Amino acid sequence: MEKILEIKNLKKYFYSEGKVIPAVDGIDIDVKKGDIVGIVGESGSGKSVTSLTTMRLIPGDVEDGTILFDNKNILELPEKQMRTIRGNDMAMIFQEPMTSLNPLLTIEDQIGEVSRTHMGFSKKQAKDHSLKLLKLVGIPRPEQVLEEYPHMLSGGMRQRVMISIAMAGNPKLLIADEPTTALDVTIQAQILEQLKNLSIEYDTSILLITHDMGVVAEMCDYVYVMYSGKIVEHTSSINLFSSPKHPYTQGLLKSIPSLDAEQDRLYSIQGKAPNPDEVLEGCPFAPRCEMAMEICSKTSPPLEEIEPGHFTKCWLYSEEEKQKRGVR
Ligand code: SF4
Repeated sequence: MEKILEIKNLKKYFYSEGKVIPAVDGIDIDVKKGDIVGIVGESGSGKSVTSLTTMRLIPGDVEDGTILFDNKNILELPEKQMRTIRGNDMAMIFQEPMTSLNPLLTIEDQIGEVSRTHMGFSKKQAKDHSLKLLKLVGIPRPEQVLEEYPHMLSGGMRQRVMISIAMAGNPKLLIADEPTTALDVTIQAQILEQLKNLSIEYDTSILLITHDMGVVAEMCDYVYVMYSGKIVEHTSSINLFSSPKHPYTQGLLKSIPSLDAEQDRLYSIQGKAPNPDEVLEGCPFAPRCEMAMEICSKTSPPLEEIEPGHFTKCWLYSEEEKQKRGVR
């Protein structure tokens, strides 16, 4: 299937007090048309920097790499052209909708503005389109909500409005950064379901940024697991959940609360993620890894395809290391 987004060897570094912070360090990500692709990791893993860099919302150049969106390298486009792409072909929703909504405008004005600007709709067409979107995202009494202001709505309703705004320009790619984290579990499940329906109805690809493996399981076709600015595992959702390879992914999966298992305490990965400016030799996960070997703290492993379509960055799967340990 054709790719809508192709990130190649992307490096985004920050510089502070003489230190280099490699927030995103040489990652490759593909999103095919119509797919929902997740980037999962703890805070500080580089997943949000990746999404903001893809929208070109972080000032400054990237260190290296290309971001091909619809076959155009968006890193080379003039800002004016990028503004047209944002909100039109590529849209974004954030965790906290209140910071993105204009408190002084009605919901109708805010959704309608996108379809008037980007799709050339008349006021009447924009209103009908807004109404359709509000219904699709499950807003009760949508006619009334169109005339209301953001402060009159609950958090869940505001997030639904944000999704409607993002979808109003009929984007080819929607980037959703922790879109339901601030909401309670029931509302979260409803909104995820509606996002999925919208993606099918409008054939929109979604790049979903989350720390929550439960959200990935619910939504994603493919998953990229990020740790310390790098991709450490990448495969289909089905493979990832049935046969996770990287010890970090295995830890993330063990941390999902289970309703069936008798769990006294929730599992959590020992230690904490390295500071972004910490220079670690070898595998950055080594200080937290229960499987770490001698080589792990000395040399960083490559990202390798260990089964068709399943990539991981861990010495446990290197043929040489397997031979040394007598593993077949
Ligand atoms: Fe653990 Fe070593 Fe694999 Fe890193 S390379 S995840 S330290 S086993």
